[in-house]
Amino acid sequence: EEIYRKNNIYQINREAAFYYYKNLVKEANKGLNYLFERGLSIKTIKKFGLGYAKDAWEALNNYLLSKGYDQESIFKAGLVLERKKRNGYYDRFRNRVMFPIINTTGKVIGFGGRVIDNNEPKYLNSPETIAFNKGNNLFGLNLAKNEVIKMKQIIVVEGYMDVIGLYERGIKNVVASLGTALTKNQANLLKRYADEVIIAYDADTAGQAATLRGLDILREVGCRVRVVRLSEGKDPDEFVRKKGKEAFLKEVENALSLIDYKIVLSKEENDLTNPEGKVKFVKSLTQILKQLKSPVEIDAYIKKIAQESQISPEAIKAEIYGNNRYNN
Ligand code: ATP
Ligand code: MN
Ligand code: MN
Ligand code: MN
Repeated sequence: EEIYRKNNIYQINREAAFYYYKNLVKEANKGLNYLFERGLSIKTIKKFGLGYAKDAWEALNNYLLSKGYDQESIFKAGLVLERKKRNGYYDRFRNRVMFPIINTTGKVIGFGGRVIDNNEPKYLNSPETIAFNKGNNLFGLNLAKNEVIKMKQIIVVEGYMDVIGLYERGIKNVVASLGTALTKNQANLLKRYADEVIIAYDADTAGQAATLRGLDILREVGCRVRVVRLSEGKDPDEFVRKKGKEAFLKEVENALSLIDYKIVLSKEENDLTNPEGKVKFVKSLTQILKQLKSPVEIDAYIKKIAQESQISPEAIKAEIYGNNRYNN
């Protein structure tokens, strides 16, 4: 019964994706222009099955009814909303470019839609349905999967356009966490396919906070993880458009380990020219050093932190292991 209802939603979503896609490529329209302006080729647009939801109230609903789907099912798929003042339903997505979200078995589980003007909200997603749980899926994994297995590495970004923009330039081991903070289920999904996860979130404070949470969750499930801090552009899509593929790959190659990333952040937060700043800097890092398993690694980082702060390695060690020996 449950499986039957799920399959029904997958089927309706597939039909909707097909409809949106036809809208996009069939004739000149604002949606296609928008995607071209953002540097996407028709090849990539087809690969991701991108689409366009017309600027109309019942275009999709009428199309799906004409295909024989019943109103209740279309509603359950999250594609339409109930009218409040009179009977009937209207399309959830209007005048947006559409991003179908496809799981690893090829089912269309939901959609993201982006405005092509300055309307709000910028992105609108399908609601959670019995067939769509945001926290259990990653956008783009269906296309990235094989490349990820080959490379043993997966890059996690924030947005649909980051995945697609990188793909356009030949970087295909990329997925997005669907606008939510990374969940434990998503972390396990990443771990199933890759040996190493590279977080490449937006270069703003929201992106930084999401990176810190993501690091914790990935470490919890036992992932090897490193972080890209973009030197230019506010997200991977902008970066790769400005600087190109090789420059982005260089950023990935130079991605920071957890500790190096925290050292960089702590250096920015604390004024290392005064004692109080130095203390805060060192103390913010000793907790993390404790969690390292390799004594060699710990020693190397103690030296690095000592150098940055001009605090002696002995004092830092004492801070980490309890300070008896040092005091006596
Ligand atoms: P663009 O480059 O198209 O302007 P972006 O992907 O850089 O968009 P961000 O604002 O960085 O946009 O958001 C990252 C991701 O977070 C989006 O791709 C989307 O999945 C999600 N998101 C952003 N804004 C919203 C919103 N208002 N509602 C739901 N999800 C959102
Ligand atoms: Mn952002
Ligand atoms: Mn962007
Ligand atoms: Mn962004």
